[in-house]
Amino acid sequence: MTVQPNSIEGRDIAFHLHSYTNARKHEANGPIVMESGEGVHVTDTDGNRYIEAMSGLWSVAVGFGEKRLVDAAARQMQKLNYYHTFTHKSHGPAIELAEKLVGMAPVPMSKAYFTNSGSEANDTMMKLVRYRSNALGQPQKKKIISRIRGYHGVTLASASLTGLPNNHRAFDLPMPGILHTTCPHYWREGRDGESEEAFATRCAEDLDAMIEAEGPDTVAAFIAEPVMGAGGVVVPPATYWEKIQAVLKRYDILLVADEVICGFGRTGQMFGSQTYGIEPDIMTLSKALSSSYLPISALLINERVYAPVADQSSEIGTFGHGYTASGHPVAAAVALENLKIIEERDLVANAREMGEVMQAGLRRLADHPLVGEVRGVGLIAAIELVTDKAAKLSAQPPGDLAARGFAIMQKNGVISRAMGDALAFCPPLIVEKQHIDTIVETTARSLDELQASL
Ligand code: PMP
Repeated sequence: MTVQPNSIEGRDIAFHLHSYTNARKHEANGPIVMESGEGVHVTDTDGNRYIEAMSGLWSVAVGFGEKRLVDAAARQMQKLNYYHTFTHKSHGPAIELAEKLVGMAPVPMSKAYFTNSGSEANDTMMKLVRYRSNALGQPQKKKIISRIRGYHGVTLASASLTGLPNNHRAFDLPMPGILHTTCPHYWREGRDGESEEAFATRCAEDLDAMIEAEGPDTVAAFIAEPVMGAGGVVVPPATYWEKIQAVLKRYDILLVADEVICGFGRTGQMFGSQTYGIEPDIMTLSKALSSSYLPISALLINERVYAPVADQSSEIGTFGHGYTASGHPVAAAVALENLKIIEERDLVANAREMGEVMQAGLRRLADHPLVGEVRGVGLIAAIELVTDKAAKLSAQPPGDLAARGFAIMQKNGVISRAMGDALAFCPPLIVEKQHIDTIVETTARSLDELQASL
């Protein structure tokens, strides 16, 4: 199909460079242009309606078109459209949101710091960690360990934390001082006959060996998502988190939980850290914090982090960091109203209940000839596609099965996401059983179509 130059699609091709898109393919095929959204549905400019089974980018927790958030934004815009948080200035929404987040944290936290994206939150985390080590007189303690296939963002620093080849290749990344340890994907990385627990032990031993090889006094922090998201929805193997945390404690290394996807209900508890018994020193939050109605992200830091940072800022004279829009009053007001909705409607309980329906539904597809593994927890899941189940391999080029499966599902009215050879599912927390039934049924039908096309 040729795209008319004057059409909305043609103008997109002419003027717009897209994120995570093959630019030349885009020139040939053009975009799908979304126009409106309501609940779990979005509609494009051709009038096609889809179930957004990815909540946009894992983020629209309360669903599309939520009027309370529109009203909260309008109210704040009229009252005080903008103020900053530099040089001892503050405003009600930032104060209220900071208090709210510190109060919600699953472990004692001291302060909230506001940023505008997950990437900025993780970038800021790295700067805080450096600042802290300098304050403590440990200038050599700066390295950060993340994981292969972890996803932490795309700024130079946060893309370095990300453990995916497409985020490094041709960008001259990762930058020095960032290391990647074993990906805890039991189905893919576990050895023949190795139990899940034994695999978790091996992951912890790999981390321990990396710390020893680098020199324990040079490693400042470890960052991980409770459940890996963009790396393919990797649910940690049993006992993983307790073993990893034991290693970090032994070497006095800070633990950073990247809760950008897991935070605010996704795994069936308010935070992924609760689902897995994680006790982080720093948490990074975004996405469902505002359901992506406006950009906002936050870090929560405990006293171990705050106290030396505060001392250092006092010695230097200022904490030389901050964004124009840090704690933006309109974004903060929307986040507060969004959290109110999550609590009032008990969307965490809905995530737990509907999560069980979704996990059971998708697991029924495990017998399909193209399904290698179904994995997930709460309202986040993935299906790994293979052509050879026993060998856990695909005869197609890498990523081809999922890309084709994704396209068929989209044609059939459900938007999932292709990641490697996995298809991901992460519907809004307001999802109902009827939507999940449609998602599962459409997935089954689409896999049959995919198989017939091979
Ligand atoms: N951390 C995690 C776990 C994420 O999933 C993402 C985004 N998918 C980020 C960080 C980066 O967030 P942003 O795209 O807002 O920079």
